[in-house]
Amino acid sequence: MIKAILIDIEGTTSPISFVKEVLFPYSKQKLQTYLKENLDKKHVQTIIQSIKEEIGRDLSIAEIVNILKDWIDKDQKITPLKELQGLIWEEGFKTGTLKAPIYKDAYEKMKEWKQKGYKLYIYSSGSTKAQKLFFSHTEYGDILSLFDGHFDTKIGNKKDPNSYKKISKEIGLKPEEILFLSDNPQEIEASAKAGMKAIRIVRKNDATWLEDFAYPQTNSFKHINPQNY
Ligand SMILES: [Mg+2]
Repeated sequence: MIKAILIDIEGTTSPISFVKEVLFPYSKQKLQTYLKENLDKKHVQTIIQSIKEEIGRDLSIAEIVNILKDWIDKDQKITPLKELQGLIWEEGFKTGTLKAPIYKDAYEKMKEWKQKGYKLYIYSSGSTKAQKLFFSHTEYGDILSLFDGHFDTKIGNKKDPNSYKKISKEIGLKPEEILFLSDNPQEIEASAKAGMKAIRIVRKNDATWLEDFAYPQTNSFKHINPQNY
């Protein structure tokens, strides 16, 4: 019997395009203003210092902005850039400029499942801090209270069955009492290997239906009834 539902974000509750088409351009466009407005803040000073260390010389703010824009274009995962983007997005969400998109069927079903007594958990490669920021500023308002807990890759890789075993332990349920929802076929396989029930979510704009896939697939949360698993 299913008692908890573990849910992925990108391609599952929300469109994959949000990160590439909204968040990245937003951070790029806001870089200069954010740095200038927060230059006196200690954490911003620390970020600037690490960029100078990364490049190996003193840099003007204009040079720093250009370096950061270049890193964003090349999708470089450099720590000071990630930290700065995190701060810019945080400000964007908190001021209401950014709103996290949630597929309507996902929002409605999660609300229904919660009311029926299922525990809901998130497992995403985005940090738990970013997940909380995301769900507290959505198109449907602050929906963070729907969730009983959050997991990120600190618990392990999403394609490794061990991560799902660890999550079961952490939640305090047997793997077979947990239903996992994700668009990624390898994540579905890994969770099923760990003993969880798994359903692959296939959103029209995010993924394609797989022929001969060993696990159930659906294009909407609407068709999922945890009682059937
Ligand atoms: Mg995904």
